[in-house]
Amino acid sequence: LFISFEGGEGCGKSTQIAALAARLTNRGIPVLATREPGGCAIADAIRRILLNPANATLVPRAELLLYAAARAQHVDEVIQPALSQGTWVLCDRFTDATVAYQGGGRQLPSATIETLNRIATDGLQPDLTLLLDLPVEEGLRRAIGRNDQDGTAHEGRFEAETLAFHQRVRVVYQQLAESHERFRVVDAFGTVAAVAGRIDRVLDEFLAE
Ligand code: C5P
Repeated sequence: LFISFEGGEGCGKSTQIAALAARLTNRGIPVLATREPGGCAIADAIRRILLNPANATLVPRAELLLYAAARAQHVDEVIQPALSQGTWVLCDRFTDATVAYQGGGRQLPSATIETLNRIATDGLQPDLTLLLDLPVEEGLRRAIGRNDQDGTAHEGRFEAETLAFHQRVRVVYQQLAESHERFRVVDAFGTVAAVAGRIDRVLDEFLAE
């Protein structure tokens, strides 16, 4: 089973993924938690280019291509092999993030993004996508000052984005959720435990379908 997690800044994806991975492991389910951009050495190297505040001059098309390159490597090296072994994959961002950020946020043409997503994934799609939805102001408030686990200030580039940028990202995510069956919207307000409870309910419902 391939589950992707999407949402704006500060929506709590990484916390919820780690917690869900632990709950599934306790149930004896083989699970791999991974993230984009990154997930393997080559894609992590691309992540460092993408999220480095010193690279503020990176043009949107170059950014789009780097996300695609990182995803292709991550799919072939990590996600697909895990799925082939029957391991559940929980992925922090996937193709929908490119539609939301590079399409909605940076306003690159959606046909280009769809083509690149197809090339990068070789057609692989999540079975289920959880959109952790939160008002932009609340998410940014939570995210300010937070650093990547490896210490890089990954907000470096996003802090340069306007509120309008993040609003566009949220709207595109909501549109994707309405137009794709695999999406479930999870209210990301409230405590970690409250959101975790919502995720468990959604997952149980999905598995019972
Ligand atoms: O998931 P996380 O919040 O760690 O993502 C790191 C950053 O990468 C986000 O702040 C987001 O601004 C950016 N990003 C992006 N385009 C993507 C995926 C992530 O701009 N396709």
